[in-house]
Amino acid sequence: MEVRSRGKSCGENGSTNGSTNGSAIPKELVGSDTAARDNLKMGHDHRVDNSGEFEFGGVWGTGLVMVFFPLLMWYMWVGQVYYNSQFPMPEKGEAIGDFAAKVVELAYECSYPTRKAWLVYWGFLAYQSLLYVTLPGVWAKGNPIPHRNNLRLDYFCNAIWAFYFTIATVIVFHVTRILPITFLVDEFGSLLSVGILSGILVSFIGYFSAIHRGAQHRMTGRFVYDFFMGAELNPRIFGLMDLKMFFEIRLPWFILFLVSCAAAVKQYETLGYVTPQVAFFLLAHWLYTNACCKGEELVVTTWDMSHEKWGYMLIFWNMAGVPLTYCHGVLYLVRHDPSVYRWPAGVNIFLYVFLLCAYYIFDTCNSQKNRFRQMENGTLVVRKTFPQLPWQTLKNPKFIKCKNGGTLLTSGWYGLARKVHYTADFCQLTSWGLICGFASPLPWFLPAFFMTMILHRAWRDTERCAKKYGADWEEYKRQVPYLFIPYVI
Ligand code: NDP
Repeated sequence: MEVRSRGKSCGENGSTNGSTNGSAIPKELVGSDTAARDNLKMGHDHRVDNSGEFEFGGVWGTGLVMVFFPLLMWYMWVGQVYYNSQFPMPEKGEAIGDFAAKVVELAYECSYPTRKAWLVYWGFLAYQSLLYVTLPGVWAKGNPIPHRNNLRLDYFCNAIWAFYFTIATVIVFHVTRILPITFLVDEFGSLLSVGILSGILVSFIGYFSAIHRGAQHRMTGRFVYDFFMGAELNPRIFGLMDLKMFFEIRLPWFILFLVSCAAAVKQYETLGYVTPQVAFFLLAHWLYTNACCKGEELVVTTWDMSHEKWGYMLIFWNMAGVPLTYCHGVLYLVRHDPSVYRWPAGVNIFLYVFLLCAYYIFDTCNSQKNRFRQMENGTLVVRKTFPQLPWQTLKNPKFIKCKNGGTLLTSGWYGLARKVHYTADFCQLTSWGLICGFASPLPWFLPAFFMTMILHRAWRDTERCAKKYGADWEEYKRQVPYLFIPYVI
């Protein structure tokens, strides 16, 4: 590992000379920042958002999401357990009120938050905190924070070590029968309720703690909306442990991967073998989790870290939404006899290849842009975490030098389509649905949800960039006319 010093690294050859749209990043841009160019009006009180703009449908939209999403999660689990993996529906002649009462009763029965589930969930969280402060890692610099004198926070990145250490620990717990990993699928419902309740609880703690310490940022004064979006921008414990990073990388993806491991072990224990479909999820969830960990230093400069606040949206999503809804595909597989989803070998091979191709584009596209940003900031961290893929770093990238002092990459994947990584991500998640077939709608919840979320995110980001880069964004759109699929749309 090497942390390159400010102003030294542009492209793998380290050259800093170049011209507009030319072969390297010009000297005057190296070390310039991204966030400071953002259109936050300096001089305003950063704690107040009086833009009058509300996202996600404002108070009503965010309020509905907060009520609706946890209910949906319980509803889907009732469907898995009691309705043969279908969405629960009233029977013929059954009154809606009776049906709703029945679903609530069933949810209570199959997802009661047991003491054991609380202990496992919070023990896991505590263990991850311990790994965070004890294992070796690398340091990365965040984007400058305009309202804190362009301070760049230091982020400690050791998720990759934590990931493999966690796997080793889980194996020990399983082999010694202290906690067999199959707990995750056998008692999933209890864990689901604990995850949901914990997400809500931590959202309240995060919000009121920020208000109490006067650490709020961009507040609109509408409680429901502010609670959803969060109060604090960079919550940290002892100034070191960054809660947004900690919760975004470790908790959701580690649990998701472990649920797949549990499904594989469960199948092996009951059938004597693991089906190619469950093995597919092992690979898919490992790829995603490993990608977040191996490139953790690249996450520190993303939108979530530099712009989003630590509110219900991020907290609930990381503590409950991602780990406990993204796994419905593998839960469906482990709860059904393999004869229900035994595809011809050609179909399985096709889906494995499809997944790997989509992953390759997703990984290299994110890496190209994030490393480009780190190079221009002079904060590139070079790592050898597995797997390092060809074309992750662009040599001599082309870019537009913008009037606001920023740059827009026009090389690599970003030169082919502006959001090709969203498409690749969607393809990965669609393959998670395809491998389960079409007999149950539950594995398809994720691709459908992700498509809606990512389209909205693309629109949100485009609005933000159009404002930030003005005419240069139009020029970027002229040079790279495709949004999601090169030469198509
Ligand atoms: P991006 O990585 O595209 O980040 C958007 C930002 O990148 C823009 O605001 C802009 O910021 C910068 N940017 C845009 N175009 C260019 C360009 N041409 N050159 C340089 N910088 C540019 O998106 P996200 O952070 O939304 O997503 C990252 C990944 O995470 C994606 O693959 C996405 O699919 C995935 N994701 C997955 C989720 C899940 O639940 N599985 C949820 C959300 C995201 P600036 O100019 O300020 O640097």
